[in-house]
Amino acid sequence: MKKIRGLIDRLERERILTEEEFCSLIDGMDGEDREYLFARARRQAQAVYGNVIYVRGLIEFTNFCKNNCYYCGIRRGNSQASRYRLTKEDILECCREGYGLGFRTFVLQGGEDPWFDEGKIESLVRAIKAEYPDCALTLSVGEKSYETYKKWFDAGADRYLLRHETADPEHYARLHPSDMSLEHRMQCLKDLKAIGYQTGCGIMVGSPWQATEHLARDLIFMHDLNPEMVGMGPFIPHHQTPFKDRAAGTLSLTLILLAIVRLMLPQVLLPATTALGTIDPMGREKGVLAGANVVMPNLSPVSVRKKYMLYDNKISTGAEAASNIRELKQRMEAIGYAVAVDRGDYSRCPDIASIAGYIKL
Ligand code: SAH
Repeated sequence: MKKIRGLIDRLERERILTEEEFCSLIDGMDGEDREYLFARARRQAQAVYGNVIYVRGLIEFTNFCKNNCYYCGIRRGNSQASRYRLTKEDILECCREGYGLGFRTFVLQGGEDPWFDEGKIESLVRAIKAEYPDCALTLSVGEKSYETYKKWFDAGADRYLLRHETADPEHYARLHPSDMSLEHRMQCLKDLKAIGYQTGCGIMVGSPWQATEHLARDLIFMHDLNPEMVGMGPFIPHHQTPFKDRAAGTLSLTLILLAIVRLMLPQVLLPATTALGTIDPMGREKGVLAGANVVMPNLSPVSVRKKYMLYDNKISTGAEAASNIRELKQRMEAIGYAVAVDRGDYSRCPDIASIAGYIKL
């Protein structure tokens, strides 16, 4: 449709649309429009980052959580979850393995586990940065105070992932218990940006009660925050949560959102997420072909991998396992991309050195 093409072209030119226009774009696309949108998004990613995919080694270091988010399998209220915490030595061992495989970014993600207090995380950050000064370290451990975020940043943490989940306060209140608020989450994102982290926000696509207007508001929020990273994957139900009977988000809508975000924020670091790989065996490839430029394979010890079950059937084998970086590399090459041995910082155009440094296995 002409109107949709016009919106895509204008989004590419002006980097923003109105809420109504975003709604028309999201709801009005046919198959050909989608291919057009993906081609534009791909071209944009390639203009900034080349045909390069960055990898991050994801270490899921604790599944204890004090929060009770209705969608999440490791919520406090899930008494059937088998809980674990990695030790500092376990975590350093994961980094050692990851470094050997070519990873130059480690992501420490976990539930909001009070046992890992400010001092423990600070000492982890220091230990990892002392042993791997050439690596970037990303934290994703939830909502903390400005002072805590600052301590960790000063200790050497480079990036922080904190999805806002939805930019609509009422929708937020339907996904979370009343002790959590969108206002506080947004304050955290502002603090992280102000401190100097490369900051990531994001959403689940197709979460319960999510309407197109919510997605439009999410996009406008992302435009205004201007994050360095955006994490987006489909919502997938977990059988031990209140949302167990809810429908999962779709592949098609997730790809559309990825492509729109790429056109709106050309330099953004945009992962093809594990959830995307879970709902479709070619999900990661399709994500890359819709403008994603990051993949985050799992570096957690095999013994705990199945316990970090945010949603049903979460994949952790094949190309999802960091140890199989070779398979991931082949799959990316099959669609014309190369995996880089590189920290993969925001907006850093690939130079000859990093292109020469593709993982050679
Ligand atoms: N505790 C950290 C890390 C949370 S897990 C934090 O609060 O940021 C990372 C992300 O997984 C969440 O932000 C959420 O968007 C996603 N997630 C949780 N449950 C999910 C589900 N059922 N389906 C899809 N994604 C989910």
